[in-house]
Amino acid sequence: MDIKALYQEVIMDHARKPRNYGEVADADVCIQAHNPMCGDELTLYLKKKGDNAICSTHFTGSACSICMASASLMTVKLRDKTFDEASRLSNQFQQMIVSEAAEETSDFSGLGDLQAFEGVRKFPMRAKCATLAWHALDDAIDAALKGKSTSEVTVGDAEERHP
Ligand code: ZN
Repeated sequence: MDIKALYQEVIMDHARKPRNYGEVADADVCIQAHNPMCGDELTLYLKKKGDNAICSTHFTGSACSICMASASLMTVKLRDKTFDEASRLSNQFQQMIVSEAAEETSDFSGLGDLQAFEGVRKFPMRAKCATLAWHALDDAIDAALKGKSTSEVTVGDAEERHP
């Protein structure tokens, strides 16, 4: 298995030039996300539109290419999505990445160019990198619905280091 298969063009593009990268001082929700397996650290900033929708998401942090690209592409996809739509997208993305049952026939076409990350499924060590931003999103939506403004999320633990 060639690890380079992971780094498709869309991933490299977003990793090199992350979109929506930057701190948002007046964000409604701010989530710290950490992946100890790889050392990825992200902060996700969410601005609400009304009570049930996303106006915009931004992020900052220091992370590997897969993690940066996933966060970048996620923030592009989330603009003007309702919380429901964003949660569905997050579920579908995480299912594509981690599901052992996902088969060739599974239809993830609704994810659009997020499908660039499908190859990560073959590399369980990198799955946490690809899903970190999405875990942060799940937490951000949860926090927003509960009226909280900050939260922390950590994915993975030492036991998962040697699957
Ligand atoms: Zn990583």
